[in-house]
Formats: sequence, C-alpha cells, structure tokens
Amino acid sequence: MEHHFPQPLDAAEIPRFAGIPTFMRLPAFEDPAQVDIALVGVPWDGGTTNRAGARHGPREVRNQSSLMRRVHHVSRIAPYDLLRVGDLGDAPTNPINLHDALGRIEQFFRCIHKAGAIPLSIGGDHLVTLPIFRALAAQRPVGMVHFDAHSDTNDRYFGDNPYTHGTPFRRAVEEGLLDPKRTVQIGIRGSIYSADDEAFARACGIRVIAMEEFAALGVAATLAEARRVVGDGPTYISFDVDVLDPAFAPGTGTPEIGGMTTLQAQHLIRGLQGLDLVGADVVEVSPPFDAGGMTALVGATIMFELLCILADATASRR
Ligand code: MN
Ligand code: MN
Repeated sequence: MEHHFPQPLDAAEIPRFAGIPTFMRLPAFEDPAQVDIALVGVPWDGGTTNRAGARHGPREVRNQSSLMRRVHHVSRIAPYDLLRVGDLGDAPTNPINLHDALGRIEQFFRCIHKAGAIPLSIGGDHLVTLPIFRALAAQRPVGMVHFDAHSDTNDRYFGDNPYTHGTPFRRAVEEGLLDPKRTVQIGIRGSIYSADDEAFARACGIRVIAMEEFAALGVAATLAEARRVVGDGPTYISFDVDVLDPAFAPGTGTPEIGGMTTLQAQHLIRGLQGLDLVGADVVEVSPPFDAGGMTALVGATIMFELLCILADATASRR
C-alpha cells in the first residue's frame, strides 16, 4: 500500500528498541502546519503538591509507545491512513517558575491551534491542562470528559496559591474556558479534605460520576450519561492516569485504591467515538514511582486509544 501521510517506523525493518524514540515511532516535526494531529509532550510538574515526577512522563511514554502498532484491533481505525500525525516535540517549560511555565505552554499550544492542528499531549501534572485550555478555548468554551480519581476543582493551596494540579478545572470554569454544564468527571474517589469538597463542581453543574456510581452503572450506562452531558459541541478529553487502580498504574503522584481497570478505561474511551473532539491529554504519569515502565505503557496505550477516536473525529469534520 502506498502511504500519503507520515508513517511509524516499521518494526519488521527497524526493531522497536532501536532508533530515536518519538511518539508512536512517527516522524518528528517542528511546524504544526505539517500535521493534522500533533502529539506533544509537556514535561512539567510545577503544579504538583505532593509526589513530583510527572515532568519525566513524556520521555518514558515516548519510549513505551514503541510498542504501539498501526491499527486499532476493535474499531479498525488506522489513524496514519486517515490524516497526518507527527511528534511535535515538547512544549517549552520552566521548572523553577510556575507563571512563566504556564505562559510558555499556552504559547506553544496557541501555535498548534492557530495552525489548525489538534493536540494530543502527555503531561506533566494536571495543571498543564489549564494553559492548553487557554490556547484552545479562547474563542469558545469546550466541554470535557474528565477521567480522574480527583475532581481537581479545589480553590487555594498553601495560603493564597490558585494554581496547582488540584485546581485547574475550577480556574478553567472561572476563566470561561470550560463549560461546566458540558463537563462530566468519571472515577472520582478517595478521602477528601472536607465533606463539601465537591460543592463547587456540583454548584456550577459539573456531572460527577464517582467511582462507586460508575461501578453500579457499568460501562454502557456511564457512556450514555457522559454523551448526554457533553452533547454534540466541541469536547476535550482529559485522562489522569490515577483514575486507574494503582495495581494497573502505580507510577503516579496521587494514587487512590479502588480504581478502574485498564480494560474499563479502554472501553470508555472507545465509546466516545463520534463526539466532536477538539483535543485530549494524558497526565500524571510519574516514572520515578513506576514499576518496570508499566504506567508509561498504560499512558502510551491510552494515548493510542485517544488518537484513534481523535483521528476519526478530525477526519469526519473534513
Ligand atoms: Mn487530575
Ligand atoms: Mn488525579
């Protein structure tokens, strides 16, 4: 077959452990106008309040992504036959200055958005989604399907500090970037700071499907509810790897037991095919806490699952 779009290195020609480790073994690009979907690393964890290390996520996910193949085994989506996908490298960051880092990340995603490319990124801690929203949702708010053990709608930490990985979605709602009525959070669990921790999320209309409700509903009913909430408007998917049980994803900063399996997460993502998807991210992969690269492999595989439905959505808009 003759290919018109960038293709991954062929593992039958060059073994998976050889070569420069780009995402999915795709070619690297500097100009976002050369791709339709931009795979991006955001190696920054300056919003982390406890166990740091997600700054090392992109490099390890690039490494483990060498195990991904070309075609989704269930949906049969072949993203590299549908459009141009490439590794756009890492967003510039600043490990010692939070505000400067947020500005640099926003500017990088602004370039991608302006070029008409759809970003699929790997963090980094969850605060990186805020500057991504500032770039993507400046013209109109987005809806979101948010996988996480945590709501990430807290207000302030360590005194009067509004920017941490526990606050991005409160800030995004306040800044008019995220439409709370088109937002669904799935997998929320774990002990909380106070009994009214979810007051903000509920008051502004975010649909919270706690882990216990997901367990009771099952995958199909949860998907129906998620699709009802986000509707057919522009929608972003944010996947915090700690939504998974730490048995499946130990390499993360804020693990919570009683989480979902990797297969449940895969079924949920596949069930989001057909939404008007405008971007996605996988965050909180923290290699220093990982075991044998397991969580980075999960991150790479979830990234491929997201790539397939993003490619399908992007191609069908043409
Ligand atoms: Mn999170
Ligand atoms: Mn989390």
